[in-house]
Amino acid sequence: MYPTFDTIVLGAGALGSAAAYYLAKRGQTVLVIEQFELNHQKGSSYGMSRIIRYAYDQINYVELMKSAYTLWAEIESESNTRLFTKTGGIDFGKPSEVLIQSIRSTLETAGIAYEKLSPEVARQMFPQFRFRDDWEVIFQEDAGILEASACVIAHIDLAKSLGVEFRPNTIIKHIHPQNDHVIITTDKGTFSAGNIVIAAGGWMQSILQEIGLNLPLKPMRCQESYYETDDIQKFGSEQFPTFIAHVRDEFGFLPYGMASIRDSGLKIGLHGGTIVNHPSEIDYTVDQNTIEKVLLFASKTLPSVSGLKSARICLYTMTPDEHFIIDKHPQYPHIVMAGGCSGHAFKFSTLIGKILSELVIDRYTEHNIDMFSVQRFL
Ligand SMILES: Cc1cc2nc3c(=O)[nH]c(=O)nc-3n(C[C@H](O)[C@H](O)[C@H](O)COP(=O)(O)OP(=O)(O)OC[C@H]3O[C@@H](n4cnc5c(N)ncnc54)[C@H](O)[C@@H]3O)c2cc1C
Repeated sequence: MYPTFDTIVLGAGALGSAAAYYLAKRGQTVLVIEQFELNHQKGSSYGMSRIIRYAYDQINYVELMKSAYTLWAEIESESNTRLFTKTGGIDFGKPSEVLIQSIRSTLETAGIAYEKLSPEVARQMFPQFRFRDDWEVIFQEDAGILEASACVIAHIDLAKSLGVEFRPNTIIKHIHPQNDHVIITTDKGTFSAGNIVIAAGGWMQSILQEIGLNLPLKPMRCQESYYETDDIQKFGSEQFPTFIAHVRDEFGFLPYGMASIRDSGLKIGLHGGTIVNHPSEIDYTVDQNTIEKVLLFASKTLPSVSGLKSARICLYTMTPDEHFIIDKHPQYPHIVMAGGCSGHAFKFSTLIGKILSELVIDRYTEHNIDMFSVQRFL
């Protein structure tokens, strides 16, 4: 007989760690299997900071964020760890930018307060930026920063305190679906469980293919970087908002950023990167060209930026429509999965973990996850 659990969770990134916690909270016996160490740097969830925000162009995401904000506050309180820092957030660019207008109308429909700032007012509120006269600035006060690695560790620690078994440095080699359970073979033994949650990040496509699902999931090599500024006091979380700069027409890329937190330096990233077929193809060497693009944007928009402080490579997992996958396997309802996070799921990760636990235990969630179905790619 193999060691047997109610549920095995594949992957201890943002999603898997959260799923393990919510499954255990509902009384399940859970085994989490992670191929590397907890909080390793090869996947998507390591790091100092991720943006959390309501400002989305689709109402479904805003509604999900209402639940996610509540759950993050609960996780902070249960783990007694500060995970969220509210800074406020801005989206800016030319008023003709479709995304800016969609964000405004979505926030209005969802009843989330925001302010439309003229460039003069925006310059007074955030003198760190050089806002152009022909830009529109949307300010939403609830946006802020999640301390990414601390969130993953908090979920795993809470899960372990509820009896979850965590096995790092163990690779799941095969998943053998049976009618009412699954058998998992790893490089360190075989296990069985009533259910499996697959939250494999960039490794998702090859794992799902083996169990009959060929989904268009592509790992993307991205760069996360932090910058020095002339006056770091102006770039702390009490002074500096999260930002998304809708400036693709001028620069050809979409910069985003957030305050320096725990001496990280000012974070500025470019949304997107280079698609590969499998994470094993990724070169984790920092690329100078991306840094130069950020410095070009900063020279025109954030003139206090003086140079690079640190940079590293990170993974997105893209779907063609950039919406997530959160669903049950069409043939095996006891195989539940979440992935294809397309570079924007961290803020939802505690909620996605809860939804995954509901799909496992109740085979149903009251949250609207229709747009994340597997069926749209079959
Ligand atoms: C640079 C960057 C900036 C981002 N900024 C934001 C942001 O501002 N706001 C936001 O909301 N989101 C942001 N994101 C996206 C967010 O971080 C990701 O959506 C999220 O972390 C995805 O988590 P995950 O659990 O799906 O993946 P991962 O963290 O990669 O976890 C998957 C895990 O599965 C493990 N695994 C895979 N295969 C196996 C196997 N066979 N056996 C055992 N273990 C296995 C992997 O080792 C990995 O640990 C950003 C992402 C990046 C890279």
